[in-house]
Amino acid sequence: MNYTKDVIKQEVKDQLVEFILLEFTDMLGYTKNVELPIEEIDSVLNNEAMFDSSSISGFSDIQESDMYLVPDLSTFKVLPNKVDDDQTVRFICDIYKPDGTPFEGDPRYILKRAVQEAEDMGYSVNVGPEPEFFLFKLNAEGYPVRQRNDKGGYFDASPKDKGDKVRRDIVRVLKDFGFDMEANHHEVAAGQHEINFRFDSLLKTADNIQTFKNVVKDVATNHDYHATFMPKPIAGANGSGMHCHLSLFKDGDSAFYDDTAEDGISTTMKQFMAGILSHASGIAAISNPSVNSYKRLVPGYEAPVSVAWSHSNRSCMIRVPTTRGKGTRFEVRNPDPTANPYLTLAVLIHAGLEGIRKEMDPGEAEYRNLYEVSDDSVPTLPTNLKEAINALRNDSLLMNALGEHTSCVFIEEKEEEWSDYSLQVSQWEIDHYMNH
Ligand code: GLN
Ligand code: MG
Ligand code: MG
Ligand code: MG
Repeated sequence: MNYTKDVIKQEVKDQLVEFILLEFTDMLGYTKNVELPIEEIDSVLNNEAMFDSSSISGFSDIQESDMYLVPDLSTFKVLPNKVDDDQTVRFICDIYKPDGTPFEGDPRYILKRAVQEAEDMGYSVNVGPEPEFFLFKLNAEGYPVRQRNDKGGYFDASPKDKGDKVRRDIVRVLKDFGFDMEANHHEVAAGQHEINFRFDSLLKTADNIQTFKNVVKDVATNHDYHATFMPKPIAGANGSGMHCHLSLFKDGDSAFYDDTAEDGISTTMKQFMAGILSHASGIAAISNPSVNSYKRLVPGYEAPVSVAWSHSNRSCMIRVPTTRGKGTRFEVRNPDPTANPYLTLAVLIHAGLEGIRKEMDPGEAEYRNLYEVSDDSVPTLPTNLKEAINALRNDSLLMNALGEHTSCVFIEEKEEEWSDYSLQVSQWEIDHYMNH
């Protein structure tokens, strides 16, 4: 919706709004916010909300730490009271510098640049994400313990599924937020759940992912659970992915569908997939940005390990569902929900568009179960964060997609994370080496 300032001012008056919540996302993908009293509505709508960004991840390494929060008026939302009793209006914001230009390290701006690049080539992109999560129990102090909310499995019904009521409340709140909700179900692992919402444009979907994660966490807390989007919380059980279904349009028609092709897939779609596959290792640093991400990308748990595409094979990074016509799309399976959605979609789009520009070829679809292929005939995704970071550093297309500021700060921060992790001594090492 495109709201005018006047409509917004009338609405906050009518709805007795007391607080203004200004949200944005840091480099690591966390939602950040600052709250102002409703008396500040004029200054907020005039883009005068200033904040000190020096302690925000990805914002800090800059000379100028005063930044402006510029509300995207289309994200105006009086928050559903089910999360919070106080009448609050929420805006998702863009970050601007004091000189009135966008801050180049703002993840939302980085995604907007990718959207623009697609538009310049005549394309618009839709994306449908599938973020999975676990529910853990809380101890008496309200902190999560390593005990899941149930012992259910894929599509299990109540009472094995003890997450149904939580998921329903999440669906209700998201509907109040204006989401188009789809199916929800128990996932494969005990304590693991999935709730689907409808695809949308790139920017809207990235915003939606952030809102989704926050609502899931809030509602879970109200049910005395801790929701986590950590990719692999339990060794030996399926992890949580955030598959992304991408479709491309030109002049309102699918650029991915070709009814004259035997498999219905257009050359453009194959080129787009090829672009993504050719940048897979560097993309992984952004779409799988944590140490823990790589413990999910292993054979045997429905997560991809191979840089290949297929029609049905879940071991491949890209899978093409059977839908044709407008719904022709492919699913990128490696992203996980610790990824910053703005940065992830930005690198996927830049890589895909390069595939079109360079008329790249993804090769034949892969039909083998790649979990069982042990030769090196198919390239694999990075096996740890360090490998992914090195690949990103050597990938100029992706570095440019992120921009100089974010690519440098991201790599620096993630190298520190990796070296900190490498210095830890784990229980596994104690168990295996103490008897030497
Ligand atoms: N949890 C799996 C993953 O890690 C996906 C399972 C599924 O949705 N079929 O990607
Ligand atoms: Mg799903
Ligand atoms: Mg799933
Ligand atoms: Mg999926």
